[in-house]
Amino acid sequence: MRYVIPEELKSVCGRPVAVVTGASSGIGAATARALARCGFRVVLGARRMDRLRAIAEEIGGVGLPLDVTDASSVAEFAARVPEAQVLVNNAGGALGLDPVERARDEDWRIMYETNVMGLMRVTRALLPALERSGYGHIVNVVSIAGFEVYPGGAGYTAAKHAARAVTQTLRLELLGRPLRVTEIDPGMVETEFSIVRFRGDVTLAAKVYEGMQPLTAEDVADCIVWAVTRPFHVNVDQIVVRPRQQATATLVARTGRPAPSSDY
Ligand code: NAP
Repeated sequence: MRYVIPEELKSVCGRPVAVVTGASSGIGAATARALARCGFRVVLGARRMDRLRAIAEEIGGVGLPLDVTDASSVAEFAARVPEAQVLVNNAGGALGLDPVERARDEDWRIMYETNVMGLMRVTRALLPALERSGYGHIVNVVSIAGFEVYPGGAGYTAAKHAARAVTQTLRLELLGRPLRVTEIDPGMVETEFSIVRFRGDVTLAAKVYEGMQPLTAEDVADCIVWAVTRPFHVNVDQIVVRPRQQATATLVARTGRPAPSSDY
């Protein structure tokens, strides 16, 4: 779907800047491409610079190193982005699927650092630029894990519940200022998400989507770009988007199975 930037959102030079974190793969990469297609100058941030450079080159954007878990990396990144109208806080993910009784401290720490602290750090650093633009928009990629839970998912769902709480708080704190806040909550999307969660085990990752059609990264990017291109008096608070075959985090209708399976 093709969306157009409303006239009021065009900055003096005519091409507003959009920043996308975690833009080296999956939803972030698709969002960077979609934003560029509708006329944004896109600044992409992530750790894997080879991937980032290739995508930035393809869309005429700028790829900058960013580790959202590292305060000095966020500060250096923000210093190189003096102008920004849109911030898509997308960097994040899950690690492991262990029950709480076997939880690994390091996995939980990384998930919290990335999905919660990272989102807070980048938002705090870019807020002055977003506000200065007169038409700022913060889009947080949370998840249905922000309001659902499932066995083995506590580390991830706890982090995404927190990210959702931060997003909702931001909307209260920024009320009356030229800033919009949107929460995007996808269900199952086939990206590198499950490969990362299962520490590189592609067979295990593929099983997550067996017998069902997951969302693509482009499906989620489409929701983000739609929210961003509404007239500025409109705030899209939340978009929950799932595959048709998914009702909850654990209830998925898979072909070849008699009833909706509730295995993750
Ligand atoms: P993905 O393909 O694994 O992408 C994750 C992105 O986050 C990568 O670009 C990765 O880049 C970046 N990232 C991870 N840690 C980072 C860090 N410390 N600093 C900067 N960037 C970091 O997975 P995805 O599905 O597109 O995930 C994007 C977002 O959607 C995540 O927040 C995820 O929780 C959320 N989400 C995903 C699903 C799903 O089913 N896939 C569903 C709901 C929500 P580098 O490794 O290069 O840094």
